[in-house]
Amino acid sequence: MNDHVAGLSLDALRQDLAAAFRLTARFGWHESVGNHFSVAVSDDGRHFLMNPKWRHFAAIRASDLLLLDADDPAVMEGPDAPDASAWTIHGALHRARPDVRVILHAHPPHATALSTLKSPDLPPIDMNTARFFGDLAIDPDCGGIADDAGEGARIAAALGQCSVLLMANHGVTCTGATVAQAFEQLYFFEKAAQTVLLALASGQPLAVMSDDVGALTAQGWKAYAGMADAHFAHLKSVLDREEPDYRD
Ligand SMILES: [Zn+2]
Repeated sequence: MNDHVAGLSLDALRQDLAAAFRLTARFGWHESVGNHFSVAVSDDGRHFLMNPKWRHFAAIRASDLLLLDADDPAVMEGPDAPDASAWTIHGALHRARPDVRVILHAHPPHATALSTLKSPDLPPIDMNTARFFGDLAIDPDCGGIADDAGEGARIAAALGQCSVLLMANHGVTCTGATVAQAFEQLYFFEKAAQTVLLALASGQPLAVMSDDVGALTAQGWKAYAGMADAHFAHLKSVLDREEPDYRD
């Protein structure tokens, strides 16, 4: 097993993922003690870190994270084994997209509200919505709670080569090469969904960018890729002051 992904040690990956849980709770994007994040730690994505079952995001520490094998059903017999749906879906996604190291699945309020619209699109109407132009997959058939392998493969196919999957009537799954990048996608997607919902609430027609301008804006974002690391480093510095036990 390769324990150095994106230049980070396994301990550093554990700390980054623990920070993502703490921050998600701080932003109000958690769902009781449910939902699940993972980080692949092997090149083929078959081994990954994931939160233990029903541990509140606000209390997760680096050492709490489980190291799971997507091919070993015995991991589901452990004392803190995750929900079957979590293990199945994240396992299928990591196998299908070994380039994607981090998968964050959550039900943040605005992204989830957007997922309930009959047309759950994210039209490019500002910088943040246009960030996802051409990089957002929509899964229109994501009803119910998934717990079988077929559902995991179906969701992996729906994501395709995009970085974000909006799951109809459900929530959102954001991915990235690092925890910082995936968290930044979650942050901006929730903001973009909020903007679309606020604009729609005005009752006025939206001024949607042309496809050309949307694509140009999405391309323009690539020059700002470093923002993810700077943002995540700042947010971790807040945790280091106020709840440093996430690193334990
Ligand atoms: Zn969910």
